[in-house]
Amino acid sequence: MNSEIIAIGSELLSPYRQDTNSLFVTERLNQLGITVAFKTIVGDRPKHLVDAIRSALSRTDVVVIMGGLGPTEDDLTREAVAEAMQVGLKRDPELIAQLYARMAARRLTMTRNNEKQADVLDGAIILVNPRGSAPGQWLDVVYGKHRKLVMLVPGPPSELKPMFDEECVPRLREVLPRRHIATRVLKAALIGESAADARIAPIYTQFTDVETTILAHLGDIQLNLLCSKPILELAQARVDELASRIEEELDDLIYSSQGESLEQIVLLHLEMQGATLSVAESCTGGMVAERLTSISGSSRSFVGGAVVYSNELKTEFADVSPTLIERHGAVSREVAAALAEGIRVRCDTTLGVGVTGIAGPSGGSDEKPVGLVYLSVSDGKKTEVVERRFSGDRDRIRHYASQTALDLVRRRLM
Ligand code: AMP
Ligand code: MG
Repeated sequence: MNSEIIAIGSELLSPYRQDTNSLFVTERLNQLGITVAFKTIVGDRPKHLVDAIRSALSRTDVVVIMGGLGPTEDDLTREAVAEAMQVGLKRDPELIAQLYARMAARRLTMTRNNEKQADVLDGAIILVNPRGSAPGQWLDVVYGKHRKLVMLVPGPPSELKPMFDEECVPRLREVLPRRHIATRVLKAALIGESAADARIAPIYTQFTDVETTILAHLGDIQLNLLCSKPILELAQARVDELASRIEEELDDLIYSSQGESLEQIVLLHLEMQGATLSVAESCTGGMVAERLTSISGSSRSFVGGAVVYSNELKTEFADVSPTLIERHGAVSREVAAALAEGIRVRCDTTLGVGVTGIAGPSGGSDEKPVGLVYLSVSDGKKTEVVERRFSGDRDRIRHYASQTALDLVRRRLM
């Protein structure tokens, strides 16, 4: 079964407001095995509303219409649905009484325009709204020879979310064929979205019953796998099979097969091996430490470290010799290695990490351009250094550097 979500409100077409409700509704629909085929955002104009509702009804079975149920002139959803579907709209005396009672309870007098919130589409079931004045409506009707489920729900997220969960989800469950959904989340570090897709598309396109989506963000790729079947074990088996095929292909680029973050995985490996970690960060300014300490329980294996931005502090906190810095420069393979080993010894940890680079936009040269970063991990016996040239702005470079540092540690521990 597929669906369309219509978000109504001219403010949602301005630069100041986003339609966030549809993300929530999409999640709930997906959990029920309903895919979202279209999302439409439409302003408060009668003709545009009618057009949008008609086209949604012509191409999907479930239509969720959000917003425009209030008392004001620009709240036109009920009227638009009535016109689009050619059904009547009647003012419900009981609902009017409830509206007056609700206002009176708040010691407010109700203006006449509020009464239109009591307009009910023929055949609709009222969806109660304890958190606001406008009730929602549920229609289960035949339209153009096909059965359609149409929901009208209020725009304010604080009203929409509970109404959708309490009034719409149980009704959808009742009318839908029983489906069970299995999901898997795989994550890979430091591979581009298109490079990853080129390798895995030939695999996931064979699994036509599994929906695969790729989200990419700053050196991190998330693959969401979803399968819906009448029997849960069947759905689970399919996503698990696809997950293993993808893991085989991407091999050690995959750091998580259950959705954990890179920092969580690093801490997990450290703990499993009874190892500890410290960091000496220059251009990342503590970002690696910040990411690790954002995870609860990180103190069991991450001890801390130092932000060694100046040359003096590289020497003072990580024992990097001033002559080494003078000879090779602060941004160099040698200094990265000395930072990793120096902080490891100072903090008495199993592993030490050193990061030094040029985050820009100023400070670059031909020999050492903006984006050049050296990262090192040391365990006292082996000190590994990698050189990376990241592109982009300061934020991006710093984030990629922290991602690479964490991934170096992960690889060392694997
Ligand atoms: P309405 O139901 O059209 O009166 O909308 C009331 C308020 O709810 C708007 O001013 C928005 O702030 C909010 N709202 C409406 N639709 C959405 C949406 N799709 N996503 C997030 N907020 C919304
Ligand atoms: Mg509105």
